[in-house]
Amino acid sequence: MIDSRPVCDYEGSNYQSEFWDRGERDYEDRAEQIALRALLPKSGRMFLELGAGAGRQTPLLSAFDHVVLLDYSRTQLAQARARLGGAGRYTYVAANVYQLPFAPGAFDAAMMIRVMHHLVDAPAALKEIRAALAPGATFVAEYANKQNVKAIARYLLRQQSWSPFAPEPVEFVKLNFDFHPRAMRQWLAEAGFIIERQRTVSHFRSGLLKRLFPASVLAAADGLFQPTGDWWQLTPSVFVKTVVSSQRSEVRDRKSEGEGREAGRVEDILRCPQCKGGVSRDGDTLFCADGHRWGIHDGVYDFKDLI
Ligand SMILES: [Zn+2]
Repeated sequence: MIDSRPVCDYEGSNYQSEFWDRGERDYEDRAEQIALRALLPKSGRMFLELGAGAGRQTPLLSAFDHVVLLDYSRTQLAQARARLGGAGRYTYVAANVYQLPFAPGAFDAAMMIRVMHHLVDAPAALKEIRAALAPGATFVAEYANKQNVKAIARYLLRQQSWSPFAPEPVEFVKLNFDFHPRAMRQWLAEAGFIIERQRTVSHFRSGLLKRLFPASVLAAADGLFQPTGDWWQLTPSVFVKTVVSSQRSEVRDRKSEGEGREAGRVEDILRCPQCKGGVSRDGDTLFCADGHRWGIHDGVYDFKDLI
C-alpha cells in the first residue's frame, strides 16, 4: 500500500529560485553551511541526502564517494540534476520518507535539512531513516525549534496561544511544524540514534539585523554561537549530529550486506518501497517479485507512484 500520511510536496514549485536565490536568505544559507561543515563526516562511501531539493547543500558532500539525492518532488530533483550533472557521483531518487526504497544499512551517512518541519509523523520517518543506515553511521538532522526566543517572548506577552515549553509539536501553517528539543531528542533516541552534538543556528534571524549587517558577518557571528546548542536551544533552527547505535546482530547483517555490495552498483541498494523486496531492471522499469513496478524518468528513479 502507498503510505497515506500527507506529505508536503514541492512538485512544480520554484522554491529554489524564490526562497533561496531571490529570497534574501543568504545569511541562513551561510549559517547552515557553517553548521554542516562542523557536523558532517570528513569522508565516507555512501551518503543519503533526504529532501535534497534542488541540491543547494549537496556540494558540501564532496568528500563522499557517492551521494543519493532523495526528494518527494521530481521537479526539484530535475533541477538538482541540471545543476550537479547526471552520471557519476550522484543518484536521484523520488520517494516518500515513510517508505524509503533502500536496503537495510545501505548508507554510512545521511542528512536531512529543512525537512523535519514538514513531517506530520517525524518519529516514523526517523525509524525509516534509521533502517537505511549502517550501525555507526552518522545522521545530521535539522529541525524547527518551537522553544525559540521570539516564540517565548510572544507567549509571555500573550500574543501567542501555544506554549513554547510544551513538548508536543505545533502546526503553525498546514504541514509546517515546530518541535520541542526535548521531544526531538526522545524520538531520536527511540529510533536508535545517539546524539553526539547539537548546534543552534540562525541566532540573528531578524529583518533589522539582516539590513544592518552583511550576511557573511552575521553568519560568522552565528557560527561562534552555534556550539552553545550543546547546552541550550533557543534558536528557530537546531542541527543535531547523531550516530546509529551498534548492536551485534545488526553488525552481522551489515557485513553480509556489505560483502554483496563491494563491487556492486548503486542499483544494488535499491529496494521496492512497498514490500522491501529486491528490484530488477528492465529498460526504464524496475520491478520486484511481488509485481510492483516503478519507472526511471530522465535519470530519476521514481518510487513516488506505481506504474
Ligand atoms: Zn514490491
